[in-house]
Amino acid sequence: MKAYLKDLLTLLFLCLPLLIYLILMSMYDVTLKTTAKEFLFNGAMLMLLLSVLFATTNRIVKFIFSIILLCFYSLLLIQVGVLYTFYNFIDKAVLYTLFETNFNEVKGFIDSYFKWYYGVSVFVYFYIVVRIIFSYRFTLEKYKIVPLLLIFACIGVGYRFFERSVLLLSTNTYVEYQDYTSQLSKKITHKESTYFTNVENDENEALYVVIIGESSSRRNMGIYDYYRDTNPKLSQLKDELYLFNDVISPRTHTILSLDRVFSLGDFHNPELNELGTIFQLANQAGFTTYWLSNQEPLGLNETLVSLYAKATHHQNFVTKTNKSSHKLDEVLFPLLDEVIQEKPSKKMIFLHLKGTHIFYWDAYPSHFSFFNDQPKTKFESEEAFQIINAYDNAIRYNDFVVSEIIKKIRSKNTNSYVVYFSDHGDDVFQDNNSFGHHEGIGTNAMYEVPFIVWLSEEYKQNSLDLNFQNKLNRKYTLEDFIYSFSDLSRIRFDQFQPIKSIFNEQFIYKKRMVSPGVNYDERN
Ligand SMILES: [Zn+2]
Repeated sequence: MKAYLKDLLTLLFLCLPLLIYLILMSMYDVTLKTTAKEFLFNGAMLMLLLSVLFATTNRIVKFIFSIILLCFYSLLLIQVGVLYTFYNFIDKAVLYTLFETNFNEVKGFIDSYFKWYYGVSVFVYFYIVVRIIFSYRFTLEKYKIVPLLLIFACIGVGYRFFERSVLLLSTNTYVEYQDYTSQLSKKITHKESTYFTNVENDENEALYVVIIGESSSRRNMGIYDYYRDTNPKLSQLKDELYLFNDVISPRTHTILSLDRVFSLGDFHNPELNELGTIFQLANQAGFTTYWLSNQEPLGLNETLVSLYAKATHHQNFVTKTNKSSHKLDEVLFPLLDEVIQEKPSKKMIFLHLKGTHIFYWDAYPSHFSFFNDQPKTKFESEEAFQIINAYDNAIRYNDFVVSEIIKKIRSKNTNSYVVYFSDHGDDVFQDNNSFGHHEGIGTNAMYEVPFIVWLSEEYKQNSLDLNFQNKLNRKYTLEDFIYSFSDLSRIRFDQFQPIKSIFNEQFIYKKRMVSPGVNYDERN
């Protein structure tokens, strides 16, 4: 083979990850400008490393730069993986989620999306690359000026497009994230907010429960007309439930969503989140507040959700006391029983479920493995069938958990309510040929959440003019939950806005913005 042809093929082989990245970008809806910038930046970095590697004869320099090259490839492959799985570049939303992730989640994530042959391919590729670096000689190498010129050119191009560097973005975002959470934590972890004034609640006795679900889409719930009976238990209680049909989550990631749900922050004024939260409101209204969670309190950092929860009087993270990694949501039952028995007469209990989190198959016990036949989907593959079945089984287990909680509260025969919603949904081969939740894809199934209210007879007697039946079809976004929450909890305060409460006669529909310029109700 002619020397230059051999050179060309070798170079193509060394550029393989970059070429895959380029092909992927051109397949998806990435603008030409972004594609060009990504390609130029990463191309320049790759050429720079290769030029140094082939220009030097020093084995130590060669060794060090080979390691840098393999790290560069790994980073590029992660970018390829994220683009391939979520049709999205690594951006701030992805990084924020990553910073709040813990080891178990990373492990589960890899279990969900990673295939063994990816690892084998990468290993084989890396092995050949290292062999080439230490044995191959390019024809042009004898002209020492060539790699030198290349190095200068690459530094120039790389510098011009350095804003495309994932490493730089990650570092900057991390600093910003640290700053943000430390600033915010100074305010939201306080038991009371100075912003709320004249907070009042007249009740002498109350047992109020807010269940925060995880990744459970309304789409897969039988009680919301899914074709499978994924809600046999809640269906039995149907006459006692108010099923709100058109409620969405503000975002499609746990932290980003709950940040809005718990606080005054919304799409237009996210920074209002530091002014006040539902926990502070409940404290100020005289409730004893409890946070019972089956989610992990610690990520790389303390997560934003657990910072919010710090404002409650009592917190109990099951995962802290119970070391085994997969815990079913029923572990919360004994904790709930205990709290129900406790002294305070006005209690507000928040339950944070593991729900139907992405490792669906771990979210339910084996005897809840109910759906095993072929599910309906337009994306027909064996993998899709298995994942849909696991998700539906997880939803069916979640149905058991939520209904058990309602039954426990009901048995107390006191002034009480239970409200259940999910932090966001998951799209499990519904609108998109994949599963999970990611704002880069942001399909409707990821926003559609259940919003279910149960009221005790005693609660109803205290508010005879109550009528939820004519409000069930309201188009509502959970970013205004604080107003619905205070309305339902009969908490009055000066800053209350009745137009933002789904339960209020004065409610007014507002545009449900899910991203800049995108109104959920107007997109197709
Ligand atoms: Zn979530």
